[in-house]
Amino acid sequence: MSKEIPYKIYLEENELPKQWYNVRADMKKKPAPLLNPATCKPITPEELGHVFCDELVKQELDETTPYIDIPEEILSFYKMYRPSPLVRAYCLEKALDTPAKIYYKFEGNNTSGSHKLNSAIAQAYYAKKQGLKGVTTETGAGQWGTALSMACSYFGLDCKVYMVKVSYEQKPFRREVMRVYGASVTPSPSMDTEIGKKINAEHPGTTGSLGCAISEAVEVAVKNPGYRYVLGSVLNQVLLHQSVIGLETKAALDKYNIKPDVIIGCAGGGSNLGGLVSPFIGEMLRGEADYEIIAVEPASCPSFTRGVFAYDFADTGMVCPLAKMYTLGSDFIPSANHAGGLRYHGMSPVLSQLYADGYMKAVSVEQTKVFEAAEQFARVEGILPAPESSHAIRVAIDEALKCKETGEEKTIVFGLTGTGYFDMVAYEKFHDGKMDDYIPTDEELEQFRARLPKID
Ligand SMILES: *Cc1c(COP(=O)(O)O)cnc(C)c1O
Repeated sequence: MSKEIPYKIYLEENELPKQWYNVRADMKKKPAPLLNPATCKPITPEELGHVFCDELVKQELDETTPYIDIPEEILSFYKMYRPSPLVRAYCLEKALDTPAKIYYKFEGNNTSGSHKLNSAIAQAYYAKKQGLKGVTTETGAGQWGTALSMACSYFGLDCKVYMVKVSYEQKPFRREVMRVYGASVTPSPSMDTEIGKKINAEHPGTTGSLGCAISEAVEVAVKNPGYRYVLGSVLNQVLLHQSVIGLETKAALDKYNIKPDVIIGCAGGGSNLGGLVSPFIGEMLRGEADYEIIAVEPASCPSFTRGVFAYDFADTGMVCPLAKMYTLGSDFIPSANHAGGLRYHGMSPVLSQLYADGYMKAVSVEQTKVFEAAEQFARVEGILPAPESSHAIRVAIDEALKCKETGEEKTIVFGLTGTGYFDMVAYEKFHDGKMDDYIPTDEELEQFRARLPKID
């Protein structure tokens, strides 16, 4: 007898994950090592320690420990907003008239409005434990900067955020939330750093990019004693922390003996998708189960679907370690795209390896189609989704509509990573018919590809 599935599947406090899951431990083919940009040799823990906190360096390089304890201080912070809801989208199913069963894991139920807090609180904790004064970071759309500001204020750390200039100007309220939590927010490229001055001189009037803000934040961390740099996506450590999403999802589904057929997530740098799917891919890697995993990216920044799997720089200034990943080239600057959080040129090395090995597929979707899905979802499920998250909604709806044609009763799970209250300019453009669906041409992509570093 199957139990009736409630709208929301809850986990009790004692059912929450107490360890993160490190999917690398189960990967036969490990992600390629990070390289020192100066020597092109695998980077050592000592070298990484100049940039990142010691404990996070350990996590970054650990590819053998499957489960890592979540420290008590982090667990108690998680308890304030976790578990995040796993919702059965009964109303959406009805509106679509589909036999598919749709679930979404909603990570927007904290003040920062996205899943990024899951890793921010962990990174701030380890910085505090190491006795640091503060951390530096970049933020694009602003969600990461917001999450990190909250985490730093909780642990009494200073937080310096370099915010991509175009977002700084377009999203003054995001900036103000960060300042509520005591962070300093500087538009990037700034004139505070060598790299910022250089980029401003070479590209007068530039509105910035994530790659450039990363270089600035790293420079400031390395030059200021007692500071380290932290990053909100892409890195192995971030996927590790975000595994809490997938572990909770799996625990909730297991409670009702639900086995998903399709798992969908949007992919910017890969952290929410990696976190959501890690425990499920772990089962695939160990030969225990099979799932269809779909990464969804914007057609304007198609790292998986049109990028190459190669070593590349993580930032414009080429100061960060080189990573082997699906990439469009580190100086790729995506055209105006309203899903700001998905505009990174590269992709998590872990997900890149899994994708190369056939454990996932990827699709790219156009902006207006994404906003159509966002609105359809908002009107029946009552949540105003972030544009980034709406990429996953788009494909979940498409999959459910396919089921309607074939009569298949597939179970679809997708990650709803955040809320869109600070994205109303994007919604406005959509409503006014001013949103464009620019897709880079092969020639344009080739131009950036030709400048990739030559490393085998
Ligand atoms: C940052 C962000 C993303 C994309 O980042 P990933 O690292 O790919 O998860 C997606 N959704 C929201 C709401 C975000 O803030």
